[in-house]
Amino acid sequence: MDESSPLGSMRILSLPVTEHHTLSAALSSVTAGWEVYPIYSVDDQCVCTGSMRKRCEDPGKHPTTPQGSNDVSPDPERIAEMFSRWPGENVGRLGCN
Ligand SMILES: [Zn+2]
Repeated sequence: MDESSPLGSMRILSLPVTEHHTLSAALSSVTAGWEVYPIYSVDDQCVCTGSMRKRCEDPGKHPTTPQGSNDVSPDPERIAEMFSRWPGENVGRLGCN
């Protein structure tokens, strides 16, 4: 045990990118200058995969996070956390239209 090791104070950013294609896509979008958040997808009937299903008024664009598009972030660490806590099959992006 060497608690004076410089490695002990190094901040390690670990992102669960393995087997998480949506997160990978989200982080690519961030690199391209977008701010992103996780959103639900639609099934083969174009029905929202969120809990609202057919009652959803915004299928395919419906955020999985509690604050919806207000949770949008440019921070990879925050984005990884969002996709981990509120998984979505798609990536919502805010940026230039
Ligand atoms: Zn929905």
